Amino acid sequence: MSRVAVVTGSNKGIGLEVVRQLCSKFHGLVYLTARDEERGRKAVQELEKEGLKPCFHQLDIDDQKSIEKLRDFLQEKHGGLDLLVNNAAIAYKAASTAPFGEQAENTIRVNYFGTLNVCKELFPLLRPHARVVNLTSYAGFLRNIPDEGLKTTLASPDLTVEKLSSLMEDFVKRAKEGKHGEGGWPNSCYVVSKVGVSALSRIQQREFLQDSRVDLVVNHVHPGYVDTDMTSHKGPLTVQQGLIPFIILLGETISRIRGAVSSVYAALLPPNIEEPKGAYIWHDKQIVDW
Ligand code: NDP
Repeated sequence: MSRVAVVTGSNKGIGLEVVRQLCSKFHGLVYLTARDEERGRKAVQELEKEGLKPCFHQLDIDDQKSIEKLRDFLQEKHGGLDLLVNNAAIAYKAASTAPFGEQAENTIRVNYFGTLNVCKELFPLLRPHARVVNLTSYAGFLRNIPDEGLKTTLASPDLTVEKLSSLMEDFVKRAKEGKHGEGGWPNSCYVVSKVGVSALSRIQQREFLQDSRVDLVVNHVHPGYVDTDMTSHKGPLTVQQGLIPFIILLGETISRIRGAVSSVYAALLPPNIEEPKGAYIWHDKQIVDW
């Protein structure tokens, strides 16, 4: 039976590059997924022109029925899943005039609860030695949360998914009332959503350690500041190859890193590794203290 990989939100940007690289590096089938079937199929064709053979399935992480359809399809067609890259996310532009409460609701719903719901449905399919990669961000650093008490709660080894989800809901509620600051939250919905994804990843790894399926590993990765639609193409790294500005300034040999490096690295961790597990992995593959 073929090993199977799924990458969410992979019709463009980092997700597309992750699929591109996995097509040649992952021993098995790689599913490019997209919420919009047309955009997804177009991306598949793009990769096919390069001689790659990704599979396709529709997936909107903000739509429970869509998640369940993918779950049922994977179960029936492949009987399981070996790699899940939770890449899909949204970010409002700084210039957005949408009310902060609305931004909070949508950002937390897609980035945190959407990712959580995909995990809830697809984790039961994970086979022994499966790998999960959650795309967080530099924004997902715990230190971006101003309140010490909140930080302690989020970093607690006793934090549960239920408690974390209620904290995310608390942020949205307060944001709508204009009172998120009083609750110890920062002024960025994206930051809260990615701190949520990072905190979730740590809980998930703790749960994996108790799981009867051996060697399940989840890590949360920061891909770097990457030139994609999300950053309005301002990031210094291209999704494939980027130049590290300070190295260029030093006039040293041009160094290239890849916007997909940390994701692909975490996706292809060999069986039975000691670490990284539940770790915050930087774009250069270093483990960073969350
Ligand atoms: P892009 O905006 O370029 O791509 C985001 C992808 O997610 C698109 O394919 C988009 O689909 C998809 N998506 C959005 N909402 C949903 C949904 N509800 N269901 C399924 N797919 C969805 O972003 P990047 O490639 O830059 O970002 C990829 C990941 O990396 C994100 O998690 C982001 O937060 C993270 N990241 C990015 C950084 C950067 O510098 N670029 C820095 C740090 C983290 P569609 O085309 O339909 O909109």
